[in-house]
Amino acid sequence: MSQVITRIPPSPTGRFHIGTARTALFNYLFARRNGGSIVFRSEDTDRARSKPEFEQEIIDGLHWLGITWDSFYRQTERHDRYRELLEKLVGEGKAYISSEPGKDDPNTTVHLVRLKNPGTVVTFTDIIRGDITFDTTELGDFVIARSIDDALYHFAVVADDMDSGVTHVIRGEDHISNTPRQILIQEALGTTRPAYAHLPLILDEKRAKLSKRSGATSMMDYRDEGFLPEAIVNYLSLLGWNPGTDQEYFSLAELTAAFSLEDVQKGGAMWNRDKLLSVNQHWMRTLSDEDFITLLAPSQDMEKMRKTVPLLKDRARTFGEARQMLSGELSCLFTEPVLDREQLLVKEPEDRSGAAKNGLEGLLEPLQALSEGVSAEEVKAVIMPLADAAEAAGLPAGQAGKGGRGALLWPLRYALSGQERSPDPFTLISILGPAESFSRVQKAIGILEG
Ligand code: GLU
Repeated sequence: MSQVITRIPPSPTGRFHIGTARTALFNYLFARRNGGSIVFRSEDTDRARSKPEFEQEIIDGLHWLGITWDSFYRQTERHDRYRELLEKLVGEGKAYISSEPGKDDPNTTVHLVRLKNPGTVVTFTDIIRGDITFDTTELGDFVIARSIDDALYHFAVVADDMDSGVTHVIRGEDHISNTPRQILIQEALGTTRPAYAHLPLILDEKRAKLSKRSGATSMMDYRDEGFLPEAIVNYLSLLGWNPGTDQEYFSLAELTAAFSLEDVQKGGAMWNRDKLLSVNQHWMRTLSDEDFITLLAPSQDMEKMRKTVPLLKDRARTFGEARQMLSGELSCLFTEPVLDREQLLVKEPEDRSGAAKNGLEGLLEPLQALSEGVSAEEVKAVIMPLADAAEAAGLPAGQAGKGGRGALLWPLRYALSGQERSPDPFTLISILGPAESFSRVQKAIGILEG
């Protein structure tokens, strides 16, 4: 095989779409896997819809994912070249200028360029789908330029692929029907046919084509939600490609080593947000605590933050979720809660008033005896026997559900967190430290006395 050259040719007419990212990734992987190169081409000929800010978003987004290319151009910079090639085809009698009444205004005359269609049956071999055949007769002498100065999309694509020496066209399945037209233009220009690989559609959870209605389709929304580029790349690679092993997690380098177009499936690839979340959680957990904190950019006390990272790694599937936890169920680690007396009593058995207060009082001394930096397991080893003793001393068997260990552990957890949902009290104490825990328990006792 001659040196592989692939292309990333997005149309900058909208935000950076998931489908654009997946196609770009597969072009990147295939080229890098085969020691080839990649051309980035901005297909910006639709002047009304193309916007520089969309082009910039796509470029920034691809770079964020770690996808690079070796050369770059825009179709709007290539008018002279398109004209030159159109003139050549007209000169050779392979295309002709057709003067016709304008479609919009029949009183005007337009000078379209039409390809002389030999009307053959075109068969091309798709690497993923095998042979695909089209009868091109019905295309007639189709238009390839609005005027000799204004090439249409299919002509520009073929001219660009030819001049860039593109060997492999890897693109979405929705472009299959464009291929026969493009092949006829290639044949008129006398250029070699690239290999084709049409990637399966990305389907949403209802098996419809992924669209805005299916949820976020802009890559940048995922970045803003706190997904890692490593996770997105890993997840996108599995949208259509199957490694043929049980391996689920791949870095970009591992993908580059493993990728092949032969292992891409024909059938639609299902977008599954839960799967994406679990892949993201995997990559979040691989970060060092320091890198995790840097990406989280927290405003909280750093020392406590360091102790909180393991909890976040355990629970959060995106940095967005981690931030929500810090301002929600984990906020008690950084801000002293306001307690509600009724809540402190919730688990107290009806017939033993004062149990919550007594229980908390019994914890003051053991808390004082703990040293700074104590782990959750060490705290548990001290407190669990007290909870067991409270249970044993306490209730008739039938009431165990109302009391038990919870008779001690509930008021303790609530005294520390002020929340119905929070990490367990041992973890809270290990992060808050013995002194702060002692003071929160003491305040709770004060509330119960009051
Ligand atoms: N600009 C087209 C798109 O964004 C790609 C065309 C092609 O790959 O040939 O869908």
